[in-house]
Amino acid sequence: MESEPLDAITISMQNKRTQTLSPHPVQVGPVTFGGPAFVVVAGPCAIESAEQFSAIAGAVKASGAVMLRGGIYKLRTHPDSFQGLGNGGLVWAREVRSRVGLPLVSEVVDPRQIEAMVDVVDMFQVGTRNMYNYSLLKELGKAGKPVLFKRGFSARVEEWLLAAEYILREGNPDVVLCERGIRTFETDTRNTLDLSAVALVKTRSPLPILVDPSHATGRRDLVEAMSLAAAAAGADGLLLEVHSDPDAALSDPGQSLDFDSFSRLMERLKPLLTALNRPLHTLP
Ligand code: PEP
Ligand code: MN
Repeated sequence: MESEPLDAITISMQNKRTQTLSPHPVQVGPVTFGGPAFVVVAGPCAIESAEQFSAIAGAVKASGAVMLRGGIYKLRTHPDSFQGLGNGGLVWAREVRSRVGLPLVSEVVDPRQIEAMVDVVDMFQVGTRNMYNYSLLKELGKAGKPVLFKRGFSARVEEWLLAAEYILREGNPDVVLCERGIRTFETDTRNTLDLSAVALVKTRSPLPILVDPSHATGRRDLVEAMSLAAAAAGADGLLLEVHSDPDAALSDPGQSLDFDSFSRLMERLKPLLTALNRPLHTLP
C-alpha cells in the first residue's frame, strides 16, 4: 500500500484545533493498522525458548490474533531480572514467525540492534523507556520498517506526538502509536490507562493508535475490561501479553493472560466491535 504524505501531522500539531484528520493506515505484511478493521497483536512479554514461543504463537493465532509480539531484548527495572535472549533469540523468532505465518513485532532497545533485527521482525517496537531516545528514533526513521511507538510513562500526548515526528521526518511515515499507561499516584495498578489519550490522538494525528492493557494495568484480571474499553474509546487495536503458563513467565507474569482468558477476551470483543460497526481484522 502506498503511504500518504503526512504533512497533516505537523499542521495539526501547530494548530492544536480539534479537527477530523484523514487516517494514515499502516500496512505490516497482510495486516492494516488504522483501517476499518480492529487489530489484535498478542504473544509473550519475552521469547523464552523456541518451544514456548511456538506454543503461544499457535494458540493466539487460533483465537484470532493477526500479529505476534515477543521481546528478544528486554529493558528490565531490576538488573538481575531476565534481560531477554538477546541475539540468540533472533533465530527462533524468525523460525516461529515463518512457521506460524504471522508478522512479528519486537522491541529494539539500541540502534546497534537494528541491522540484526531488520530481517527478523516485520515491525520495530519502541518501548516506553525509549520514547525520548531521539537518536534511536532517527535511526528507525531510516530503517525501512514500520514502528510501533509506545508512549513514555510520563510523557504528555504532545511530547509523544512530537517524538513520533523524529521517525516521520527521516522519511518513515509508518508509525503506529501505542498507549500503555502512564505513571500516576495510583499504585494498585502498574500504570494508569489514559483512554482519553486515545480519543485525543484521533483529533491531533492521522496515525493509528493501539492500546496495551497488559502494561497499563499490570493485572491480568483487569486486562479484558480495559481491552473492551479501549475498543469503545476508538483504539485501532490491542497489544496483549499471553503466556502458556503465566505464573511461570520470566517477565511480567502478573499481567499475562493464559490461553483460555485470551480466547474469552476475543469472544467478548466480537459483539462489541459489531455494535461499534467495526470488523475484527482477520486473515485469509
Ligand atoms: C513490552 O511491550 O514488552 C514493554 C516492555 O512495554 P513498555 O515499554 O510499554 O513497558
Ligand atoms: Mn511486558
